Amino acid sequence: SSRLLLQVRVAQVTPEHLLVLAEDLTQARRLEAIRRDFVVNVSHELKTPVGALSLLAETVQDAADDPEAVRRFSGRMRAEAARLSALVHEIIELSRLQVAGALEDAAVVEVDDVVAEAVDRARTTADAKAVRLVAGGDRGLVVVGDHNLLVTAVRNLLDNAVAYSPEGTRVNVGVRRREDLVEIAVVDEGIGIAAADQERVFERFYRVDPARSRDTGGTGLGLSIVKHVAADHGGDVSVWSQPGRGSTFTLRLPLAAAPARPAPAPAAPA
Ligand code: ADP
Repeated sequence: SSRLLLQVRVAQVTPEHLLVLAEDLTQARRLEAIRRDFVVNVSHELKTPVGALSLLAETVQDAADDPEAVRRFSGRMRAEAARLSALVHEIIELSRLQVAGALEDAAVVEVDDVVAEAVDRARTTADAKAVRLVAGGDRGLVVVGDHNLLVTAVRNLLDNAVAYSPEGTRVNVGVRRREDLVEIAVVDEGIGIAAADQERVFERFYRVDPARSRDTGGTGLGLSIVKHVAADHGGDVSVWSQPGRGSTFTLRLPLAAAPARPAPAPAAPA
């Protein structure tokens, strides 16, 4: 009977089973809490630019007969809209990364290409601030992963390095092989991060100085994205910093075995 079956089933449940079940439940609850927090944070973060935009729109309407004011406030509306668009873009990126299996397009990726592309994209902001971007180190290393995600990660580190550095300083991105890992280190001579904040900067929406982050167009999501990209590639990211002297962010990724060189073409018959 089904009753007998149930008894047999219950008898088969070992303490290990219960432990696994409890762990699954804890994990599920933890994920649920993360998801809930994220939704609350996102709503809060979206309210600020949306509120600013509607205030600015009202101001423009009121100032319709003052062309100079219209020009000024429209400019601020555009900046606010750009910030909102960056925020939405990063929220989408992050939620995609938070879903398991985001690394669907894993392929062999050249670290040189990733760094070159990230430097290229960060160049405009660096130039505007007269920050010198220098890249160097080991060449020819390969990892398995998603090229675009890795470019985003390195670029986020570079954008931060530039944003939190005074004009005329230098930002260095160095690639180094350490046994079966590659280290991509982004070194700046900027404002640095106090010890107490160092472990928190990778949290979503955490900013050491919200006003400053806002001025630089920051969303508080950049490092959180870097952390997820690193984890999805089986790597990690860490920070070393001295306030007032600079910061070093290091992205560590497992190396892929270098692709075998194609066999030499057979010698042409004499
Ligand atoms: P944001 O969009 O605000 O830059 P991030 O997640 O990229 O968000 O960084 C979180 C916070 O960490 C920043 O607001 C800033 O306070 C701090 N931070 C990040 N990178 C650096 C850096 N290179 N130098 C100093 N502070 C930094």
